[in-house]
Amino acid sequence: MGKYDAIIIGGGHNGLVTACYLAREKRKVLVLERRYIVGGACVTEENIFPGYKVSTAAYVNSLFRPEIVRDLRLRGYGFDLVERNPSSFSPFLDGRYLLLGPDEDMNLREIGKFSARDADNYPKYEAMLERVSTVIEPTLVQTPPNIARPGLGDLLKMQPLGKAMQKMGSAMGEAIEVLTGPARPILDRWFESEQLKATLATDAVIGAFASPSMPGTAYVLFHHVMGETNGKRGVWSYVKGGMGGLTQALAKAAADMGVDIRTNAEVAKILVKDHTVSGVALANGDEFEAPKVASNLDCRLTFTKLLEPQQLPPDFLAAVERINYDSASMKINVALSALPNFTACPGTTPGPQHRGTVHLCPDQDFIERAYDDAKYGQPSKQPVVECTIPSSVDPSVAPPGQHLMSMFVQYAPYKLKDAVWTDALKDEFADRCFEVVEQYAPGFKQSVIARQVLSPVDLENTFNLTGGNIFQGSMALHQLFMFRPVPGFAGYRTPIKGLYLCGAAAHPGGGVMGAAGRNAAREMLKR
Ligand SMILES: Cc1cc2nc3c(=O)[nH]c(=O)nc-3n(C[C@H](O)[C@H](O)[C@H](O)COP(=O)(O)OP(=O)(O)OC[C@H]3O[C@@H](n4cnc5c(N)ncnc54)[C@H](O)[C@@H]3O)c2cc1C
Repeated sequence: MGKYDAIIIGGGHNGLVTACYLAREKRKVLVLERRYIVGGACVTEENIFPGYKVSTAAYVNSLFRPEIVRDLRLRGYGFDLVERNPSSFSPFLDGRYLLLGPDEDMNLREIGKFSARDADNYPKYEAMLERVSTVIEPTLVQTPPNIARPGLGDLLKMQPLGKAMQKMGSAMGEAIEVLTGPARPILDRWFESEQLKATLATDAVIGAFASPSMPGTAYVLFHHVMGETNGKRGVWSYVKGGMGGLTQALAKAAADMGVDIRTNAEVAKILVKDHTVSGVALANGDEFEAPKVASNLDCRLTFTKLLEPQQLPPDFLAAVERINYDSASMKINVALSALPNFTACPGTTPGPQHRGTVHLCPDQDFIERAYDDAKYGQPSKQPVVECTIPSSVDPSVAPPGQHLMSMFVQYAPYKLKDAVWTDALKDEFADRCFEVVEQYAPGFKQSVIARQVLSPVDLENTFNLTGGNIFQGSMALHQLFMFRPVPGFAGYRTPIKGLYLCGAAAHPGGGVMGAAGRNAAREMLKR
């Protein structure tokens, strides 16, 4: 038994951010992490393939809030970013390819290979997304208003959003469409080249069990203009040494401020007295006391596994039960003896085709068909594969001369019809994904040294993510901002006094942003 000012359940990047901000204000903080390592889905593991630093789950960064890097002096703790330029490469089977990135001249030249009209429209399209992001970005660092019981403060919180919308004038309709609508009609209106549209549409369905024709997918489009790397807007990066470079830096900063971090410490129960939190109990029976506890876990786990139903209002519990955790993403990590040699852009030394995300998708209908299979409970016959090769710009993640590839694949549904994710089924699906790469880069399969295949069920078991949902709950409109995690509780507080949420389950949701952790700490520090 030990006593603390605050306990954080889970050492994901958000939990660590919360711990740091509380410790900065001289609170005595304990972080309890169930795995052998902190970081949650933002982690580097060195025991998967010997000699390789594998970003087991998340693999690219841009969204992590720069103010957190500054506040916590994370650069001094080894956090470093390697920019990706170009940011994407899409090879096609007719021998052509498309590169996109932060260099506007290159974008014009590259898109111009497919359509002069699209090349002309692309900067205007990005400017439109940029306008939408100016409305949304300030909300990320804000505590959302309480829609169920609005007070004056909640109405005031809506004011900046209303003003930003008003400033958009005639562009407001387009902004609403991006925030709520499907990606495909937007892309079809702006562009004519299927090559460009497929590249952009694959981004829109990442981690979502949805096709680009489904409402809510356009919301993800503006993520590629949002965020920053080294002060450059919209530039995505790899974290040096793998994504764990961020969470290890956070853990070091936390330890320096006196945070007690314990790994292999699974919380089994949140302790409550008179509707007020009093501490937690570990699976091994150890108990710790604190007047404030923040859960970095998703809502299903926090409220239905760590608490008893009678401790919560039935309406709240029913709302938690309604949260959508559907998922259909698979992660495959691959150790390679050589870089893929793409027919459309040959070369086996690191080149522009290897630095960014490699999109393997000919057109939007391909995504629709891949989704159709998953909709009926089958892994896609022709999956949508995107690959990143961080070793092409950060050799520290693989042994000399070798390479590391992350494959993120849609759609591999968590719930299968008449089947379960056995090793045999995983291997069959992974083989299909490798066939896709082989089509574009003959010889790829021969260069594979080892692979780690993580089905949605593996993601659930490894990272304790309900349903394998990579965002701790889908990022559909009805589960965002003042509706996340459930209406009436978007302010990081819960029906239990002293119990807070500090992870992706809360606003602004999934992604390696740190915003939920920082916002939660701000609320916890209020009297
Ligand atoms: C496969 C995959 C790929 C992704 N790719 C990207 C990407 O490239 N870029 C990006 O920005 N985002 C990506 N995401 C999303 C992003 O990684 C997550 O949204 C984010 O890391 C969530 O952070 P978190 O701290 O809120 O929660 P988590 O990372 O989920 O952390 C929660 C922590 O709690 C621990 N825990 C769980 N139960 C207990 C318990 N009972 N007791 C103690 N500890 C417990 C877990 O082990 C974990 O460490 C990806 C996610 C996945 C799964």
